[in-house]
Amino acid sequence: MDLFAYRDGRLFVEDVAVEDIARAVGTPFYAYSAGMMQAQYRAFADAFSGTDATVCYAMKANSNRAVVALFAQLGAGADTVSEGEIRLAISAGVPPQKIVFSGVGKTKQEMAAALSLGILQFNVESEPELLALSEVASGRGMTAQVAIRINPDVDAATHAKISTGKKENKFGIPWPQARAVFAQAARLPGIKVSGITVHIGSQLTSLAPFEAAFRIVAGAVQTLRDDGIAIDHLDLGGGLGVQYRSGDNPPSPADYAAMVKRVTSNLGCRLFFEPGRLLVANAGILVTRLIYLKETEHKRFAIVDAAMNDLIRPTLYDAHHEVVPVKEPDDDAPRRRVDIVGPVCETGDVLALDRPMPDLIADDLLAVRSAGAYGAVMASSYNARLLVPEVLVNGADFAVIRPRPTYEDLLSADVIPDWLTAGRST
Ligand SMILES: *Cc1c(COP(=O)(O)O)cnc(C)c1O
Repeated sequence: MDLFAYRDGRLFVEDVAVEDIARAVGTPFYAYSAGMMQAQYRAFADAFSGTDATVCYAMKANSNRAVVALFAQLGAGADTVSEGEIRLAISAGVPPQKIVFSGVGKTKQEMAAALSLGILQFNVESEPELLALSEVASGRGMTAQVAIRINPDVDAATHAKISTGKKENKFGIPWPQARAVFAQAARLPGIKVSGITVHIGSQLTSLAPFEAAFRIVAGAVQTLRDDGIAIDHLDLGGGLGVQYRSGDNPPSPADYAAMVKRVTSNLGCRLFFEPGRLLVANAGILVTRLIYLKETEHKRFAIVDAAMNDLIRPTLYDAHHEVVPVKEPDDDAPRRRVDIVGPVCETGDVLALDRPMPDLIADDLLAVRSAGAYGAVMASSYNARLLVPEVLVNGADFAVIRPRPTYEDLLSADVIPDWLTAGRST
């Protein structure tokens, strides 16, 4: 389902014309489709209907509170990676009993906060982390529910910067080394270990690496049970890829679920999943306005008002995003190749390279597609640019879910100490 489509020559998000949002909020901005987020969530959750499965939205993909609230309303839990995300999830309506806490560097302060907020589970990624958690929990007379993240040493065949399941990556504890850590966890005060978790990377476009990892997990369940550790649930992470370009053909949630059931159904474990990108990537666009078309003897540049500080994926991961004009071009309009770049003073500030585009003129609006995941959350104010606002469309309505800050906000973020202002003439 695609709720971003042209109607009478103009791009719409659901029943709202993109240019109407642009008129109301200015550019650049992110626009999300609530309907697409809901449809993606249902497709994933429905694929596991009839199994004891909980979907914990990996909110680092898009942690706008309205987006988290949308998934909470559908019954989702949350996969979090910081105290901030835990607080944000709870404030958006996610029940603490549906929150898992992942990440390699949880501080003791974050552990204490998570315990007192009553979250479901800590996904522990190292032995020192386990010891710290035992100390924090037992010191408060509490018990932390723990799953240990194993590193299955599987190649996710994705971009190196989003691959997490190889033994040289910082994530998880290599199996079978982790076996001793489970045994240790079973003896530690303040710890109840009953789960295994795994997450081998993001934007996986084949089921084979998932299946290889999940088979290692299934084997580990048997081994640990033989060791006397009662494993009763598995958190199988996120990572299912999405279509970024027209040729991409990632596995469907249904195919993924069928494989998961094949590998895990005989284990009698409750299942957790942590999809992030899958739920939001294609539900978002970044809308930007052409400032200048710059032509040299060698190149044509479309210089737009969005930049790497607003959407860093092309710069950071060489990611491909389709870019389409908001005003529908004629099919037979001539296309010329152009680099779509932002105003930031970095050669790496590109949104799309060498794209065939119809003729563009200043003030034309462009939509960068598939920008709902790892877009706004990674934005910064580099070059003293204002953080990009976010809009959520629901049918014929839209709401600004993160307003654009003002220049006053920008200036007041930093504090000049007295000893620098003393004696200043103004
Ligand atoms: C990032 C992350 C996810 C989500 O990955 P997606 O590719 O966005 O589905 C899930 N679990 C963990 C532990 C993560 O770090």
